[in-house]
Formats: sequence, structure tokens, C-alpha cells
Amino acid sequence: MSTTETSSASTEYPFVAEVQKVLTLVIDSLYANKEVFLRELVSNASDALDKGRFYQLSHEDSKKQDGEARIDIKVDEAAKSITIDDNGIGLTREEVIENLGTIARSGSSAFLEQYAELMKSAQKDQAINLIGQFGVGFYSAFMVAARVDVHSLSMKAGSEAVIWRSTGTGTFTVAPGDRTTVGTTITLHLKEEHADFARAWRLKDIIARYSNYIGFPINLDGERANQPVALWTLPKSQVSEEQHNEFFQHLSGGTAGDSPLLTVHFGVDAPVQFQSLVYVPEKAPFDLFQKERTSLRLYAKRVLIIESCEKLSPTWLRFLRGVVDSEDLSLNVSREMLQESRVVTQIEQMVTKQVIKSLKELGESDPARYKTFWNLFGKVIKEGVSTDWKNKDALLDLCRFESLNTPEGEFTTLASYVKSMPEGQEHIYYLTGISRRSVSASPHLEAFKKKGFDVLFLTDPIDEWVVQAAPEFEKKKLKSIAHGDIDLGVSEKGDEEAAKPALAAIRQALGDRIREVRFSNRLTDSPSCLVASDGDPGSNMERLLRMVDERAEQRKRVLEVNANHPVILNIAKLALSELNSERTKLYCEALYDQALLAEGVVEEPQDVVRRLSALLREATASASASPDKQ
Ligand code: ADP
Repeated sequence: MSTTETSSASTEYPFVAEVQKVLTLVIDSLYANKEVFLRELVSNASDALDKGRFYQLSHEDSKKQDGEARIDIKVDEAAKSITIDDNGIGLTREEVIENLGTIARSGSSAFLEQYAELMKSAQKDQAINLIGQFGVGFYSAFMVAARVDVHSLSMKAGSEAVIWRSTGTGTFTVAPGDRTTVGTTITLHLKEEHADFARAWRLKDIIARYSNYIGFPINLDGERANQPVALWTLPKSQVSEEQHNEFFQHLSGGTAGDSPLLTVHFGVDAPVQFQSLVYVPEKAPFDLFQKERTSLRLYAKRVLIIESCEKLSPTWLRFLRGVVDSEDLSLNVSREMLQESRVVTQIEQMVTKQVIKSLKELGESDPARYKTFWNLFGKVIKEGVSTDWKNKDALLDLCRFESLNTPEGEFTTLASYVKSMPEGQEHIYYLTGISRRSVSASPHLEAFKKKGFDVLFLTDPIDEWVVQAAPEFEKKKLKSIAHGDIDLGVSEKGDEEAAKPALAAIRQALGDRIREVRFSNRLTDSPSCLVASDGDPGSNMERLLRMVDERAEQRKRVLEVNANHPVILNIAKLALSELNSERTKLYCEALYDQALLAEGVVEEPQDVVRRLSALLREATASASASPDKQ
């Protein structure tokens, strides 16, 4: 990093390029929402107080806080400035440069990408949401300030006071400071057009709206401006919906108006004591499918110990936001040891159980809300079924599937599927495929429709992991209708003797593209369909495997044909006179094309087009030769 000495003591640094971009975006985009700067800065001060508490407890040599933890906000109308002062952990010179100038965090480039996406699709609200989620909160100060000064003294032993200054345009300076007590003071020198923020009533109003969830006292010009409360310690009945909404926004970096989809608030005394307040968000967090996941906050006796404690929840619950606070955790052990402790494991199990239970109840009491949940997080729940064997059965109850009998976009549970099984149906049947449209047109369904058996439509690639992990539900086997032998006794056998020559012709034409050709017991209307062998992967899994490894061979399937179908009988007749002709071959290949097309995927579309052209040429020639037949 190139730096410039501006005076004997002050050094000028450029912002790294990404910071400058984020800064410009934040300043430009939040035009209508300027006041969020206060929420962001107060939130940072609150985090600094949390960190300070823990730091003092875990470091004997730390510099001590002057009195109770607090946040003081002062306005100077004449000077058009606002100061936000905390006596939290503070920042060292290195930390100031690192945290306020470089965003070394991996988040910023991800932020820029997602941000650009959202702005393109004109989802401004969501873009604003991102700012909190990615932690670019500090820079929101430059929306209203022409210059920002940060005076800080860290709790770390041996650290010295520091001043950071910037106008938010390209560079910042760092110089030795004169602060004598630990903590951070941020002074905003307001832009002329935003000078009206330097009014106490204005700020009071904003604090009242945003900051009651802050667990520390906020004083505005010496007067108490909030009622600090650790919500999770209150009895459930004493927490209002509004408080939940605010706290949820605080935890998820959301904006005003966001509310949780589900709130799970409970406490346990034995075998371990803890209180827990967790939320299922109403929007999917941006990092739902990223490696670094956000997890629950862990407090010990009201002190925040780990901001994102992975061991507190299973991976598949990574969409949860919330806190756990326990009396049974010792503050004197390292965070690593805490994460591994038995207490944390026990809490994890109980929180998980409770969340599953609450979701199950939601499914029963409010199916419409549950549907929103399922559409957002169903994939992750299914991931849980295939990875969390301890909770697998409970998670299966949470799963929803479309089926032959559900309207598009509506779901059934496995339990209600089993409940509606007619006499004579032994298994739970499913069909995998790329979309509802393609599976619902599948020839495999014909016998099932006739018989009145429902079939689950598994159109999400992860569904195949679910059925692998859960081969049974309520003692009923889950069975793919596109695998193995299926005979429901409803298809007309037809004249197999007459149709037999077709088998040889098809075998000859398709060669090793198929494993076998045989008469079908599952077709009633279509001439053919493709069937996998028991134990082979399903069609979606097969596609995924080949996406990962292009050379992975497609497992050969059986072509089943309908002995009662005119097309098959015609091919059989033709085969008797011209078994090896180009024409016979063309018809047999077209039959195969049709079976593949019914699944919505063909390997070599250009070959299909070529065959289709040949068929068309032939059909039009014979139609024009005898036009009277029309
Ligand atoms: P985030 O808070 O989401 O990490 P910010 O841009 O708001 O992102 O802040 C960047 C970093 O600057 C914080 O992570 C923290 O390390 C530091 N910081 C900001 N404000 C304070 C403060 N009042 N006291 C101590 N550190 C702070």
C-alpha cells in the first residue's frame, strides 16, 4: 500500500479499490434511506461493547473500561456535527487501518457482485438489505458526513490512542490520538444538505425506531434514549411482536419492515441451563449456499462470547438467526474449547429439536406460511435429511413434495400421502425429472393413473439424496416408478406374438445405446419408455454425476415397449419384411428419441432433428401421393 506522510505525525493511505467502490455505492444508493447511518454506527458501538466485555474477562492485562458500558450520542447544532461515543473494546492503529480502510474481509467483492445483480433487477430494497448483511455499515456515515473522524483507544495492553480521518474520497489519514479512556468516538461533520440531522429530536426519533434492541444504555445529550433489554431473558409473553421485529432486524442486518417468518423463544433448566431466541427469516440469507455460514450467537451469562458459533446448530439450520445464552458456560476457557464443550453439544441438540417441533406445528397451523418457508428453505431441510441421521425422521415430516394428485405448486406430506393410499398400494411411489411439466407428461405414470395411485414428483436434484437417505417412511418403501420391473396389472398385454419381431428390430437399430428391449407392464397409451435398473441412479442424479465428470458413462437403460400399441405392431410387421432396412432403423430410433424427449433431455439434438426431417420427408411424400385420404 502506498502511503504519504502529510505532516510529521499523520500518514495518508489510499482506500483499497474495493472499499472505494463499496463506499460510492453505499453513498449513492441509499439516497432515500439516509438515516440508517445512525443505526449502523450504534450497532457497531454495541458490538464493540460486547467485545469489550469479553475481552476484559479473558485478558487480565487489558486496559479497563471507565465505568458502566454505554453509548453517548451528542449533537452540536452550530458545528453541524454528531458524535457517537462508546467505551467498548476500541481499535488499535493497525485495526483502524485494517477495518476501516481495506475491508480485508472476503465479503466486499461478494457484496459488489450481489449488489450489482439486485440493482439490475431493480430490487432496491433488497440492495439496502445487503449493506447490513455484508457489514459495510461504517461507510454509511459518508452518506451524511463530509468528513468522519474516529478517535479510539484499544483495550489491548500497550496500545496507543489513534485518530482516523477521511472525507470518503479515495484516502484516509491516520495519526496519533489523545484519547485517554478506552473506546471509540466517531464524529460526523455533516454535509451542508444534511445539517438537519444535528438536531436532538431528530436523532431521538431515529434511535427510538431502531435501537431498543441494543442491550446497552444509549444517552442522547445526557438523557437516556432507549430501554436496554436482553429480550431472550424475558418471559415469552412479555416480548411484543414489534420488539421481535427490531431484534430480528438487528441480528440479520435487515431493514425496517422486515419481520421473522417464525420465532422460537424458549428456555431450559436441565440438564443444562440456557435461554434461546431464534428466528427463521422471511427471506433467504444471501449466504445460504456459501461455505462460510452465519450461525447463532453464543452468550455466557449475558456476555457475548462467539458472534457466530457453528457448533450451536447443525449445518442445515444455517438460515437461523438468533442467540443462545447459558449460565453453564465458563468464561475462562478459550472459544475453541467452548465450541467443543458438552454443554454446547447438548444445547445444539435441544435447539434443533425445538426448531423442528415449531416448524412442524407451523405446517399444521398455518400451511400458507409454511409453504413460504418450504419454498425458501426446503432445499436445506432436504440436505438435512441426507446429512443429519439423528434428525432424519423428524425432518422427513417437514418435507413437502408435489405429486400427481397435487395441483402445480401445491404440496403433500409423506404422512398424508400414506394416509390416502388406496387398498392394494404397498409402496410410496415417486418419479424424478427436470420439471413438473416433464414428469407429469411421463409415460411411466400411465398405469398409476389408471390404478389411482398417487406418485410423488421429485424435480429437485437433491430429492434423490433424500430418497437414498430415507428408503422407507412409516414402514413403506419409497420406490421409483422409472426403475426396475413394475406391474400393476392394468396394462393390456396385447398380442405379444405379433409384436415380437419389433423387439429384434429395435435391438438391432439401437445397439448398445440400450441395455435391453422388452415388453412393458407399465404402459397403457404410449408406445415406449426408458427404465433404469434397480440400484442405478435416477435421471437427475445421473445428470449431476455427469456434470461433475463429463466422462462418467450414462448407465444403460431398458427400453420398454407397449405390445398393444399400433406403432409397435407396425414396426413388427415391417421388420418381418425388411429387418435391416434404413426405414426400419429410422422408426426404431425415433421411438427411442421419443422416450428420451418425454424426459425433457436429449443427448444429441442435431441427430434427433436429422431423424425427424427424414420422417417428415417420408410422411409428406406418402401424404401427397394419396391426398384424398386427408
Ligand atoms: P461490520 O460492523 O459489519 O463488521 P463495519 O463497516 O460497520 O462492518 O465496521 C467495520 C469494522 O470496524 C468492525 O468490524 C469493527 O471491527 C470496527 N469498528 C467499527 N466501529 C467500531 C467501534 N465503535 N468500536 C470498535 N470497532 C469498531
